[in-house]
Amino acid sequence: MTQKLLVATHNQGKVREFAEMLADLQIEWLSLDDVGVGLDVAETGRTFRENAILKARTYAGETGLLTLADDSGLEVDALGGEPGIYTARYGGAGLTHEARYQLLLRNMTAVPPPERTARFRCVIALAGPDGALLGVSDGVCEGLIGETAVGDHGFGYDPVFYLPERGLTMAQLDSAEKHQISHRGQALRAIEPLLREVLGR
Ligand code: IMP
Repeated sequence: MTQKLLVATHNQGKVREFAEMLADLQIEWLSLDDVGVGLDVAETGRTFRENAILKARTYAGETGLLTLADDSGLEVDALGGEPGIYTARYGGAGLTHEARYQLLLRNMTAVPPPERTARFRCVIALAGPDGALLGVSDGVCEGLIGETAVGDHGFGYDPVFYLPERGLTMAQLDSAEKHQISHRGQALRAIEPLLREVLGR
């Protein structure tokens, strides 16, 4: 029987990213919508780590499935580390990704290039079908907030996240190139050995 892994998100794009990165696992990748979980766990943690663990344990306990949860966001040094754990909600409810990154650009118009340092962070937690925490990993991707939006790949803040060593924004990379360097790719590679062990692969 094909083994199932729940990815604790309603975002099919995120499930696809994980499934692409671990394509050889040959498991059934499920989103919260695939298993009929409509409600969202309130992300009440104070850190990415606390939120990832909270989501993994809660949804695993609720569904009885092996569950992978990630929490991620953008830390901008000139804004004292904001938006951080509030990245998905930056600017308030109901905004498009584009409206959020345009707001970020406006809030940084006075910040000169050398001070536009920022990083994407991702923490991944894995919980067993009984809700017990099995492991946690993290990944960081350093860059600069650009002055305009460039590129149309990826999602979220990718068009304004400039990678100085590549001379490109994250939104100018194709998905395979992004996975190699991204915070999510790094965190997934760090938890991969444990995931394979648990799945017996
Ligand atoms: P969450 O991890 O789904 O709670 O949301 C994190 C938020 O951070 C997303 O809504 C995006 O706006 C942003 N974010 C996280 N990872 C990326 C990425 O790889 N590219 C661009 N934006 C990202």
